[in-house]
Amino acid sequence: MLPVVIVGGGLAGLNCARVLHKNHVPFLLFEAGNDSGGRVATEVVDDYRLDFGFQVLHTAYPEAKHALHYPSLHLHKFYPGAEIFRNGEWHLLADPWRKPWSAPATLAARIGTIKDRMLLAHLQSDVGRGSVESLFARQDVPTRRRLEEFGFSRDFIDGFFKPFYRGVFLDPELNTSRRMFDFMFRMFGQGDVAIPAKGMMMIPLQLRLGLPRHALFFNTPVAQVHPDQVKLADGRVVGARAVVVAVDGPAASKLLGLPPVKTRATTTLHFATNKSPLNRPIIALDGEGEGPVNHLAVPSMVSQEYAPKACHLIACNVIEPAALVPDEALLKQVLVQMTRWFGSQVEAWHLLRIHRIRHALPAQPPGWLEPADRPVVLPSQVFVAGDHRTTASIDGALRSGRLAAEAVMLSGFRRNQPEPRPVR
Ligand SMILES: Cc1cc2nc3c(=O)[nH]c(=O)nc-3n(C[C@H](O)[C@H](O)[C@H](O)COP(=O)(O)OP(=O)(O)OC[C@H]3O[C@@H](n4cnc5c(N)ncnc54)[C@H](O)[C@@H]3O)c2cc1C
Repeated sequence: MLPVVIVGGGLAGLNCARVLHKNHVPFLLFEAGNDSGGRVATEVVDDYRLDFGFQVLHTAYPEAKHALHYPSLHLHKFYPGAEIFRNGEWHLLADPWRKPWSAPATLAARIGTIKDRMLLAHLQSDVGRGSVESLFARQDVPTRRRLEEFGFSRDFIDGFFKPFYRGVFLDPELNTSRRMFDFMFRMFGQGDVAIPAKGMMMIPLQLRLGLPRHALFFNTPVAQVHPDQVKLADGRVVGARAVVVAVDGPAASKLLGLPPVKTRATTTLHFATNKSPLNRPIIALDGEGEGPVNHLAVPSMVSQEYAPKACHLIACNVIEPAALVPDEALLKQVLVQMTRWFGSQVEAWHLLRIHRIRHALPAQPPGWLEPADRPVVLPSQVFVAGDHRTTASIDGALRSGRLAAEAVMLSGFRRNQPEPRPVR
């Protein structure tokens, strides 16, 4: 029997492979890079674990709960809240239900009003109603408008929501679809924000280890796709029962002639030090909007395995437009800002790496998540998956991979054999 060919070994391609494999459907997966995982990767430098850009897993993600085995990932949680630098001082905004002792500090934080704090609880109950799918059927508007209409003050939107969701969507101006915002806000409320003990790469690694080795081909870019075969960049042609293209948005546009996908860039500067600038495993935000660092984390405060003993790893994350500033100039600007945030301890920080990610996430403006615009099967009969087809997230990538696998099984296989029962 001809295999299903999967192009791309990111989370979408891996989860497509996982579902096919569970259903005893033979497949071959071709990945251009030298490993699986795509944008979810971790580089080990001098025993520090540097995630490829700052990424986290929401334990409430509905698809991830099915696709991943959380206990084997040894997840470590972030403190639920954020430290925000605004008007020259730090303010703590924490979830008072999960961290009741933080309530006085959260109430005293000079960002927004008491009403804003109360509205946060209303918003959580609003986005928590109904199914996740129902959030994507709501009228779409930009996130900023959604927050203004909900009644949040401008100070709270600019001082909290803007830097927080800049970090999530890499969108400088809160122009992202409110459906995506609602989904993410629900995820923050219903679960933990976590990282695997040994780095984000453990997520794709877990999926990869569940697949037959002989079906995975790395350093093997695909140059052309057709419904019944692919042509590899080295000229070989591989016949296929069905072809699933699970590459990133820009690559999909090239391979499939789909409309261009606008993407967001980000740059992460990783520093090593022996003293954490934060006193809890929390995210620190630029509430002044001056940048270049929008959000900072100390992953080694969350999981000690991110850094050698008695050392810490700091991830300073920059979004557009500063993300595009050349290395030397950017480093200088970052150090000036960090000195303003943390004082002279910054002199001891040692730069490990600068990771530049040109196509980190698809931009997700209002209207982006209309399912009818992003079918799993194209008119050419090629199947397509990837975060550019659903929500741009770990969960969306996994979901799109599963949907593509199910669509493949429900189509071509009908003619030749009993229909396999989709298994998650
Ligand atoms: C900096 C950053 C921060 C993020 N933060 C979060 C976060 O906190 N939480 C969250 O949920 N999500 C986050 N995301 C998003 C999440 O990582 C992605 O949505 C998800 O990993 C996308 O998976 P994918 O399989 O769709 O695409 P990719 O991971 O891009 O995989 C596509 C694969 O296709 C391969 N490929 C491309 N062209 C070809 C070809 N011609 N032939 C063969 N292979 C090809 C690529 O090499 C790649 O491995 C973040 C992403 C980035 C970059």
